[in-house]
Amino acid sequence: MALNIAVLPGDGIGPEIIKQALRVLEVLQKEGLEMTFIEAPLGGQAYDQYGHPYPEFTQKICRAADAVLLGAVGGPQYDNLDRPLRPERGLLGIRKDLGLFANLRPAVLYPELANASTLKPEVVAGLDIMIVRELTGDVYFGQPRGMRTNENGEREGFNTMVYSESEVRRIAHVAFGIAMKRGKKLCSVDKANVLETTEFWKEIVIDVAKEYPEVELSHMYVDNAAMQLIRNPKQFDVMVTGNIFGDILSDEASMLTGSIGMLASASLNETKKGLYEPSHGSAPDIAGKNLANPIATILSAAMMLRYTFDNEAAAQRIENAVKKVLAAGYRTGDIFEAGMKRVSCSEMGDQIVAAMS
Ligand code: NAD
Repeated sequence: MALNIAVLPGDGIGPEIIKQALRVLEVLQKEGLEMTFIEAPLGGQAYDQYGHPYPEFTQKICRAADAVLLGAVGGPQYDNLDRPLRPERGLLGIRKDLGLFANLRPAVLYPELANASTLKPEVVAGLDIMIVRELTGDVYFGQPRGMRTNENGEREGFNTMVYSESEVRRIAHVAFGIAMKRGKKLCSVDKANVLETTEFWKEIVIDVAKEYPEVELSHMYVDNAAMQLIRNPKQFDVMVTGNIFGDILSDEASMLTGSIGMLASASLNETKKGLYEPSHGSAPDIAGKNLANPIATILSAAMMLRYTFDNEAAAQRIENAVKKVLAAGYRTGDIFEAGMKRVSCSEMGDQIVAAMS
């Protein structure tokens, strides 16, 4: 059966980078991998066409699709819109609509780009971590929350950190499943020495581990994890954690690589339907100039083949083509170094398409 993919180019550099990702997927399509692509607007582009950042037209297409490939949304021309109409609300809308609860953020540093990191090359060269962050619970959504005046007449702010057993179980299963497809090592990050919510988290993760005897499970306090990511990041394979810790650690890990144009991401729901997008934004400063690095989007397409479509071979074809092109010295402006061959967004696409065969 053909893989049904919704394509949302979005704003800024979105259309440019999505175009290159589609060219790469079309190589596989021509070879016989059946895929259908249906394009729809999201973010500012959708506001311009339909007066809403996640219009019904797009909702229908995304709900019917097996996976969604997204460029990026946002731009200065939309900054003064009412909050519910801003492009970023389109993103929140689609995440909620599709029930996406597992955020997968790889931090991969190809040896050829080791100089792009602010850390010493020997600490980060060859880094390959996957951070699995729970997206729908934790202190970000727990009730009650708010601001109030307490019994002493003093104003205070408060939030509630809470995770239900089913929420922890489903994210743990995602993380163990990913560890099984990778190095079979999973580190669960908590603050079990202080926070009951995360003590509970740890307990459930240990229970789920019984179903994955091949995976080596470890636990780490979040403060230590933040340090270890800088001290010796290559000790990690897959990390799993709650919403707030994951928010911070996934940004920290992505910066180990030093190049925002290289970072893919995925968000999955319970049926493995996924939203695949680069971690960066719409880069309005370089939009329309054919300067953007399309690799994060191309690697997001590879994640789509791996995690929604279970096609490891096709995912690796794309990843190996990217490696080959980097090894051959091709660089967009964001990852350029003296002595390398500077290419545009579309030329990077040309090289990766050529390296696929
Ligand atoms: P940004 O990620 O768009 O850009 C930050 C810097 O990185 C810029 O200098 C940009 O040119 C550069 N950059 C980003 N992606 C690049 C690529 N692929 N190749 C080369 N250089 C790249 O972040 P920002 O400037 O803070 O935000 C710009 C807009 O994007 C805002 O409207 C913001 O709300 C939106 N945004 C959207 C998403 C998303 O769609 N998921 C995420 C973050 C920000």
